[in-house]
Amino acid sequence: MTAEARAGRARTATAGGADELEALSGAVSECRRCPRLVAWRELVARERRAAFAQESYWGRPVPAFGDPRARVLIVGLAPAAHGANRTGRMFTGDRSGDFLYAALHRAGFANQPTALARGDGLRLRDLRITAAVRCAPPANKPTPQERERCLPWTVRELELLGEARVLLCLGGFAWDAALRLLVASGSPAQPLRPKPRFGHGVEAAAGRYTLLGCFHPSQQNTFTGKLTEPMIDAVLVRARELAGLRARSTGGGDGPA
Ligand code: SF4
Repeated sequence: MTAEARAGRARTATAGGADELEALSGAVSECRRCPRLVAWRELVARERRAAFAQESYWGRPVPAFGDPRARVLIVGLAPAAHGANRTGRMFTGDRSGDFLYAALHRAGFANQPTALARGDGLRLRDLRITAAVRCAPPANKPTPQERERCLPWTVRELELLGEARVLLCLGGFAWDAALRLLVASGSPAQPLRPKPRFGHGVEAAAGRYTLLGCFHPSQQNTFTGKLTEPMIDAVLVRARELAGLRARSTGGGDGPA
């Protein structure tokens, strides 16, 4: 096969993967598998917070966001009730997202440092953001059953992200979810023993992937200094290294989102 034909096939495969990811996002956003979370996300969307009383909340599962050719997949916990559950995009519309997207911009993964709403021009390159649970849970605490019900969505997403090499886990819940994801995905073939423990900056090789831990950019963590800008910047630099990406180039992020 000529190089031209190989390149053509690769382009077709990439486009097919993007189409399938888009179809997956559409299916995710219709999911009603978890009665408690369906009731909560819709109640929050109806009642709304006073500051957003004029807005129309998303009030549905929040699909992943970012580059379909991502080499780094961020795994978060779940959408925030008045953040992503309002805007319909991961980590958009709350303080955690403000902190995270500014860091992604500094690290060259995002084309702009702010995330306000869908349609704000934000693009990610080489990185995609998903969550262990896609519906906002009461008190930010999904149950183990809800976590298990949402796992197949993430398994399918990882299957479609053929370039992914790094699972960047925001917090211990996401770390444990990523370990379950790897078992369910069959990479590595056997569960890691002993089970690697979450920590900020901790790495664990797992088949074709590397798990990388980062404290969650919650207000509690960033206000108290448990997670600082230099700390998250260092983790994102390491994520680029592990993924085989060139060093930081702020202003990039012009890939598909
Ligand atoms: Fe569906 Fe996941 Fe939402 Fe449960 S948390 S309803 S499995 S999208």
